[in-house]
Amino acid sequence: MLFLATLAFFSCSRPAAFGAAGLGQARGGAPRSSTAHEDVVAAESFLADIVRNVAGDRLVVGTLVPPETDPHEYQARPSDFARIKDAKLFIVAGAGYEAWLQSAAGALEGVDVVSLFKDDGSGDPHFWTDPRTSAAALGGLVAALSKIAPDAAPLFEANAKRYAAELAALDTRIRSRFASLSPDRRLLLTNHDALGHFAAAYGFKVIGTVLPGSSTEAAPSAKGLSELLSAIKTSGVPAIFLDVGENKTIAETVASEAKVRVVTDLYIEGTSAPEGPAPTYIAMLDHDAEVIANALK
Ligand SMILES: [Zn+2]
Repeated sequence: MLFLATLAFFSCSRPAAFGAAGLGQARGGAPRSSTAHEDVVAAESFLADIVRNVAGDRLVVGTLVPPETDPHEYQARPSDFARIKDAKLFIVAGAGYEAWLQSAAGALEGVDVVSLFKDDGSGDPHFWTDPRTSAAALGGLVAALSKIAPDAAPLFEANAKRYAAELAALDTRIRSRFASLSPDRRLLLTNHDALGHFAAAYGFKVIGTVLPGSSTEAAPSAKGLSELLSAIKTSGVPAIFLDVGENKTIAETVASEAKVRVVTDLYIEGTSAPEGPAPTYIAMLDHDAEVIANALK
């Protein structure tokens, strides 16, 4: 097939990041000078939002990866390491999500790095797509924050309890949103392996991924794409789902060949701008569930 050969010429990289490059503008938060004091640096915007919900006003929490930037492909800059070292705590999703950490051991020597999620061997590090997993991680977060601000431990515990209730309500909302979607339509096809935990939580079957694996950095093989096309036809899955910042070139080519839709407005890897549809972690999952439900009904 000609289109398979053509795909080899497309890069898998995401479009260049935009936004205020020189400022540490938190995705979903107020613009903030990168020189402002930070108690905690969180790698991604959705993590920073979760941390802020527990920390309240007691700690200043910054976001490392800039808005609309793919955390999978992020390359930390010297100024990032300076920010992390100036803070008391660096919080990451963990479980291999931040690939750049693998070569950053030297630069992060002496830094207290806390992974919010633990690797379960599933190969998909997007654990936050199941809000119950995020709720289960709040205890570890309270412990980490209490270590750097022991006097505020009761506040952090109370905030975490309130936020866990909000996450439980989110889980209930998502379940009721999908209640009318019959099991044979609960099919997901994603650009990379990003919704495995969401699928397991809400009774979806993942038909396949356009890119192999759980990162956006890998390129598909002709054989892999050929198998994907036949899986799309056999399953009847109607759409390919992408994070809003992902490069959609290959997905669009596959969609055109398979005659399915491409849905490009999920917020999986980060929050939207404050005025966007998913300015918080909870809003991300509410938005994604709505988009998925609408595309599959
Ligand atoms: Zn991802």
